[in-house]
Amino acid sequence: MKSPVTDYLEDLLTSTRDENSGELAAYIPELAKADPNKFAIALTTVDGRSYAVGDVDHEFSLQSISKPFAYALALADRGLSHVISKVGVEPSGEAFNELSVEEGTQRPDNPMINVGAIAIHSMLVSDSAGQQERIDHLLDFLSRLAGRQLHIDQSVFESEKETAQRNLAMAHMLKSFGLFEAEAHEVVEGYIAQCAIKVNVQDLSIMGATFANGGVQPITGEQTVDSIVARQVLSVMVSAGMYDGSGTWFAQVGIPAKSGVSGGVLGVLPSQLGIGVFSPRLDEKGNSVRSIEVFKQLSAQMGLHMMNAE
Ligand code: GLU
Repeated sequence: MKSPVTDYLEDLLTSTRDENSGELAAYIPELAKADPNKFAIALTTVDGRSYAVGDVDHEFSLQSISKPFAYALALADRGLSHVISKVGVEPSGEAFNELSVEEGTQRPDNPMINVGAIAIHSMLVSDSAGQQERIDHLLDFLSRLAGRQLHIDQSVFESEKETAQRNLAMAHMLKSFGLFEAEAHEVVEGYIAQCAIKVNVQDLSIMGATFANGGVQPITGEQTVDSIVARQVLSVMVSAGMYDGSGTWFAQVGIPAKSGVSGGVLGVLPSQLGIGVFSPRLDEKGNSVRSIEVFKQLSAQMGLHMMNAE
């Protein structure tokens, strides 16, 4: 028997499907080949109940949605004070691929923009770790969050490697500031592999539910990170998760979130839910147009805005 939650999510899919505005991300050639009609929604509660509708088996690369997860792993590997000394937690107010750092400290503003995410990737495991070691460690962590073995989309990985000049420029800038020891191109390749890890919407909602649940994976019961790490990650998602549209997003939707240029959006409602939505057409800030509409309706209809007074 179908649950009323699934019926509700199917209605939501139907009522937002006509939203066909926006464009596919074109700067990574492989992403420009995506089927723009794919559409899926999943919710997972902190007690491990999961609901998914639409193209639920369709896999897409995480892209920037990998950033909060990599941040969590760097915090777990290296500790809060080390990570904070290298990457700040302030919104940058700039595009995700801006070549900029905080004045004075020369730290990237936050881990959700590319320059910060590249710095975070370089910190995984230890300063002396090799490229493959960082990637394997991250893939293992993300797989534990999802509760199944995840894989890298090789075509997306190769495609982005061909067009990585801007990310390489950022890595060289960080290396010139002494932010990491490794070779800049190795860090960027690892970061691109991180962005190319594929999931479906249900994986995303389970990974989100793990953070909603203070780091405890709700299905396997594993404490994947400390609750303080989960809290730190969600706090940064509030101010910087939706590119330079984060303030408007939080005022309208009120759910910590992270989007990626392949069209996914991850939402995390502390102590309640992980939410995954996927639809590839993006607005001018790089956020999935339909996914935003789904989140707006979900938040309004189910009273999910975190700033609602009881
Ligand atoms: N891999 C993409 C890049 O670095 C991620 C961008 C995104 O999803 O915002 O350009």
